[in-house]
Amino acid sequence: MKKVFATTTCIIILLFATITCFAQKPEETEVWEPEPIVVTPGTSSHQAPSDAIILFDGSNLSQWVDSAGNNPQWKVKDGIATVVKGAGEIKTKAGFGSVQLHVEWRTPSEIEGEGQGRGNSGIFFQDNYEVQVLDSYNNRTYSNGQAGSIYKQHIPLVNASRPPGEWQTYDIIFKAPSFDANGKLIKAAYLTVIHNGVLVQDHVEVKGSTVYEGQPEYQAHNEKMPLQLQEHTNPVSYRNIWIREL
Ligand code: MG
Repeated sequence: MKKVFATTTCIIILLFATITCFAQKPEETEVWEPEPIVVTPGTSSHQAPSDAIILFDGSNLSQWVDSAGNNPQWKVKDGIATVVKGAGEIKTKAGFGSVQLHVEWRTPSEIEGEGQGRGNSGIFFQDNYEVQVLDSYNNRTYSNGQAGSIYKQHIPLVNASRPPGEWQTYDIIFKAPSFDANGKLIKAAYLTVIHNGVLVQDHVEVKGSTVYEGQPEYQAHNEKMPLQLQEHTNPVSYRNIWIREL
């Protein structure tokens, strides 16, 4: 009996030792490299972090040009840049690929027009892909053209619009498309849009360049292209624009 007990104990100890020997240590699944670089966040979530490129800090539009490559004629006053009818769109001097963008915008407090004619502007990534800016507060239009839409491509998940005259925020993640040497699309662009802190576009595939008529198609372009703000006649204002290259 004593012998049986001793043998059983031995087997148990052996089994335990084997299991312990082959079990993975927690350290084995720890990944230490690369170490993410330290970035100092802004004191509010709207303030640019330390590694952002400031595109508009309220003082001037020196980072921007108009469609002819000249200084923009948009009005800059009290830290705000406002669309001037007839002045055309503005675009960054620098080109960008995949980015995280923060932008604050405001449609006029005095309501004029309706549908697409009310507080219309837009943010074009790489000169081609528009996230719509519109006064969509009690202002029905086609759903794939309201604020937070990828214009004529994707309806926003919800309407998170603030009333006209109030500042609104977009935090947008844009993943740039890529093309092969023959100009054929290899990888589509993707957009994630957070409107006033609310997710409205969840990593949606961009179908091609934004078009008003017909179906979007991709046309090969450089890896880095300017960011563009649209002039659609309405005096939409912008402030606090910063971007991080990804
Ligand atoms: Mg627009």
